[in-house]
Amino acid sequence: MSANIEDQNDVPAVIAHGAEGVGLFRTEFLFINRESLPTEEEQYKVYREVAAALKPQPVIIRTLDLGGDKFSSHLQIAKEMNPFLGWRAIRFCLAQPDVFRAQLRAILRASAEGNVKLMYPMISGLDELNQANAHVEKCKAELRAENIPFNENLEIGAMIEIPSAALVAAALAKKVKFFSIGSNDLIQYTLAADRTNEKVAHLYEPTHPAILRLIKMTVDAAHANGIWVGVCGEIAGDPVLAPLLLGLGVDELSTAPSAIDTVKYIIRRVKHEETRKLADFALQSESASEIFARCVELARQTAPSLFENKA
Ligand code: PEP
Ligand code: MG
Repeated sequence: MSANIEDQNDVPAVIAHGAEGVGLFRTEFLFINRESLPTEEEQYKVYREVAAALKPQPVIIRTLDLGGDKFSSHLQIAKEMNPFLGWRAIRFCLAQPDVFRAQLRAILRASAEGNVKLMYPMISGLDELNQANAHVEKCKAELRAENIPFNENLEIGAMIEIPSAALVAAALAKKVKFFSIGSNDLIQYTLAADRTNEKVAHLYEPTHPAILRLIKMTVDAAHANGIWVGVCGEIAGDPVLAPLLLGLGVDELSTAPSAIDTVKYIIRRVKHEETRKLADFALQSESASEIFARCVELARQTAPSLFENKA
């Protein structure tokens, strides 16, 4: 299990909860609530500090995911009608190569100091992934020419958080070393339910059959191409849902440090066979509530103490 972090101050919690590295370093927090963009050097120092502190464990640094519900006051991005469907994450970075390249160079440089991996958010298809990879190659060539060290074999992954990416996962898998399913967005985009809007919260169902089929499709495409798949959205930190994810073939879970103990507690106790049975049932079912009820049943059987005092 690995941890999700937002800055270098989260590192002690990663260690305290016994996470095996960082599965998602959300770098937006370096960019928001400030007057200017962080420089390459400033970013490098932060990434290096985290990578060195957790070495040899992996630290997956996600490139900037501004837009949606996270904005930078400095960049003054024009208001959009549908920010979650708009100029967000990799779309913004590909359109602002100077911002993107400074971050890529900082991440590459930090890869010389620890087990750093790089991950792109909001990939919707192959062209976008190829464009992002081309920027990495250019940055590598620059660093080589400048004699600045970096890990030549730095692993790159793509987040799968848009339904189109899950549907073309077989093509994406040939261009990356891992996938990380961003279930927070995958659920909102698949079910057309804004993750921040309470009025549609009842539609935001992690066990909706459509979500589980997209996860299964992603896992199958990854494994057929010899790469691993993690989940780094909120569902990875839910002890009721984690066994289902493992049953669907997910290889790694990453969650807030505070949720790690509970999820570890249940996954150490649940039998592999039980998670497979749960996933088989879920993939046959057409009902989100029926699947969720099965998840609760297995979790209660496996770890009753987690449910004490919760009626
Ligand atoms: C996700 O979408 O599940 C995810 C992990 O990314 P974020 O919550 O930062 O959008
Ligand atoms: Mg996301």
